[in-house]
Amino acid sequence: MPIQTPDIIQIKDADNVAVAVHDLEAGTAIAPDLKTRQTIPQAHKIALKDIPAGGEIIRYGVVLGYAKDPIPAGSWINEHMLTLPASPSLDDMPWGTHIVPKEELPVPPRTTWMGYRNKTGPAGTRNLLGIVTTVQCAAGVVKVAVERIRRELLPKYPNVDGVVAVTHPYGCGVAINAPLAHIPIRAVTNVIRHPNFGGEVMVVGLGCEKLTYDRILPPEDITPENVLTLQDWAGHDAMMNALLDMADRKLRKLNERRREELPLSELLIGMQCGGSDAFSGITANPSAGYAADMLVRGGATVMFSEVTEVRDGVQMLAARCVNESVRDRLAAEMKWYDDYLEAGGVDRDANPTPGNKKGGLANIVEKAMGSIAKSGTSPIVEVLSPAEKPTQHGLIYAATPASDIVCGPSQVASGIGLQVFMTGRGTPYGLDICPVIKVCSRNEMKEHWFDMIDISAGDVAVGKATIADVGTEIFNMILDVASGVKQPYSDQYGFHNDMCIFNPAPIT
Ligand code: CA
Repeated sequence: MPIQTPDIIQIKDADNVAVAVHDLEAGTAIAPDLKTRQTIPQAHKIALKDIPAGGEIIRYGVVLGYAKDPIPAGSWINEHMLTLPASPSLDDMPWGTHIVPKEELPVPPRTTWMGYRNKTGPAGTRNLLGIVTTVQCAAGVVKVAVERIRRELLPKYPNVDGVVAVTHPYGCGVAINAPLAHIPIRAVTNVIRHPNFGGEVMVVGLGCEKLTYDRILPPEDITPENVLTLQDWAGHDAMMNALLDMADRKLRKLNERRREELPLSELLIGMQCGGSDAFSGITANPSAGYAADMLVRGGATVMFSEVTEVRDGVQMLAARCVNESVRDRLAAEMKWYDDYLEAGGVDRDANPTPGNKKGGLANIVEKAMGSIAKSGTSPIVEVLSPAEKPTQHGLIYAATPASDIVCGPSQVASGIGLQVFMTGRGTPYGLDICPVIKVCSRNEMKEHWFDMIDISAGDVAVGKATIADVGTEIFNMILDVASGVKQPYSDQYGFHNDMCIFNPAPIT
């Protein structure tokens, strides 16, 4: 059995390190015949055994790296003391060798929720008017119009939850025919059809931009009902009146929508983590993974992402792929990202932040092992490129950047109705198109941001709760928030990040 005491947590028997549950003073007895040799900050690693120079440093049963110098037992191991192992090979990864049958996943306590059914695809968790720009040049006008729509029109339509200005940075000054331009164009195309927008299309263009309507809408949808071109209108007042008239017509239709009881198969949610620490992989992410398993068992679709944060665990994911083509797609997405990073002169270890390191994460391998835990244990049924829409139900891997503010919009474009966001260091992150539930890894974080973090998984670290307890709490909050019964803190305060869509293509 791995060691878990009030002072330290070891994850796997094979691990030669544990992490400090709280700050430990030098000389603290942490195991039989083992004392800390110096002060160990909370969440940081302690050597449980003498590790020779070049020796493996093992956590999660995985080699995090190799000791640069000998490390005596009881020492603090920080990020400067180990070298990074090579990336796992993407060639011929065994697939389907670790498929957990559905009946072994945890049983969800509820199997229905209240959502806004759509003609196709997942149901909505909110009833919103989404006004999407084709180009950032239109953003200022649209933001002012949205303020007026909220003030002057929205009160007439009590069944509409809100109005969102989707003012991304793409659209012009870009190499629109570059091979990779399909990624941002797909994000704009798919966000127009977000399940929370109920099929009502309202697109605002400037008139001279490269991202023309025909690139993001089918011909039958390019009508005066759905698109408005700012350069066609004579001055401010005419332009605003046209925008408000259009919004009024859309709001009238959206106001007819009602929530109805739906099966979990109508729910699509995303998982993300950000500002992680060494507890993220012990408490918050495994608890979210437990909730993910419950959702998948109940028929829902759960998406996880963040390429650099799974790259070192890619073989574990391949083992969970349901067939060879899913495995091939996983390998192809990882390879694409390896090349993308290499073209920028870096590798996957450019990912960890100063905050991650302060939180005890030595490198990307350690961060990845914690990050993957949010995917739970269920089989991976599909792998997607950024901003693609799922075609399957179950656990989906969408190969987006790990950057919080880019992963979020990518998953939103894929159609998530809610995101669960795990954090160790704390972030006010939120999205306006769908609600975000924040789960922290340590109780100290929850005490600090008591009115900004929705759920603490910190009790898992101190033995006061199990992963199943917190996982069930997260599951129930997902259904309550998706059903509109609860609002997470980020929505209560309106803390919403921008629609930073991923554009790996050239800007001109
Ligand atoms: Ca992230």
